[in-house]
Amino acid sequence: MKASVQVTVIGAGIMGHGIAQLCAQSGFQVSLVDVDRTALDQALLKIETSLQTLVKKGRRTQKEAEEILGRIRPLTVLEQAAGEADLVIEAVTEELNLKKKVFADLDRLTPPDAVLATNTSALSIAQIALATARPDKVIGLHFFYPVPLSSTLEVIPSLLTSPETTEAALVFARTAGIEPFVAKDFPGFIVNRLLPAFINEAFNLLGEGQASPEVIDRLCTLGLGHGIGPLRMADLIGLDTVLSVLEYLHRELGERYRPSPWLKQLVRAGKYGRKTGQGVYTYDKSEIV
Ligand code: NAD
Repeated sequence: MKASVQVTVIGAGIMGHGIAQLCAQSGFQVSLVDVDRTALDQALLKIETSLQTLVKKGRRTQKEAEEILGRIRPLTVLEQAAGEADLVIEAVTEELNLKKKVFADLDRLTPPDAVLATNTSALSIAQIALATARPDKVIGLHFFYPVPLSSTLEVIPSLLTSPETTEAALVFARTAGIEPFVAKDFPGFIVNRLLPAFINEAFNLLGEGQASPEVIDRLCTLGLGHGIGPLRMADLIGLDTVLSVLEYLHRELGERYRPSPWLKQLVRAGKYGRKTGQGVYTYDKSEIV
């Protein structure tokens, strides 16, 4: 895949803005689409802040930072972004029906040879692909947060994906400086078979009153050598997303993924984590992702 390719990123939230930044840093022209104008404005602000941090650390020049930002075109209307796309990366909310609707629209609006990727955390790539008339061109690209700093991703071909599409996805990842691993189209793929179960049990511990959030997280960072504890990690991912993934894995794979009632309680109260300023922990305005 050449650096002149046009990438359209759909959804400018926690993942979408990072994917757009990564793509622009790799030299791609990026259209970043979100139905929510505020989310789009916030996404651009976060990308700008992140680039300025890189400039301060001497990892990018001011000129490079401006060029990267200049390669990102923010849009609220998909029709304006899709017509020239070579690659689309969908990063909208984790809901199967929403993703199917987005893919049906993409099928109608993008060039017939465009590759359509989803950043779903756990959902079936084949089911999403069947919303289009080109399931051979649909693939999963499961990025990790924070995307511009992450060094790996899962590439998930479904049973309907062509080898050419998988190859194009692998080339894209390597061009972006990321080491890709191919995973099977099975609920949760590889990493999200493990992480949600771990996070869920941390919520059960918390809810049972066995330990405070600080103790749970500190023990996991010091004792297990994890970079971040499970509850802080859940706040970063978004508790709504964690719950959606657990509900899906519970339906598909059974009892071991039954969502913790204490996680549900926080989500029902609108406490989604860092993106809303409150989850397990409370965040001040400067910390909201
Ligand atoms: P988020 O809630 O931060 O952002 C989702 C964005 O999608 C919102 O800004 C919303 O306005 C936008 N959106 C909703 N419907 C849309 C539409 N029809 N068209 C355009 N934009 C639309 O969510 P997120 O955490 O960025 O998650 C996005 C996807 O990435 C999900 O599938 C999630 O499972 C997956 N994912 C998340 C993480 C994580 O750490 N948060 C990690 C890997 C994968």
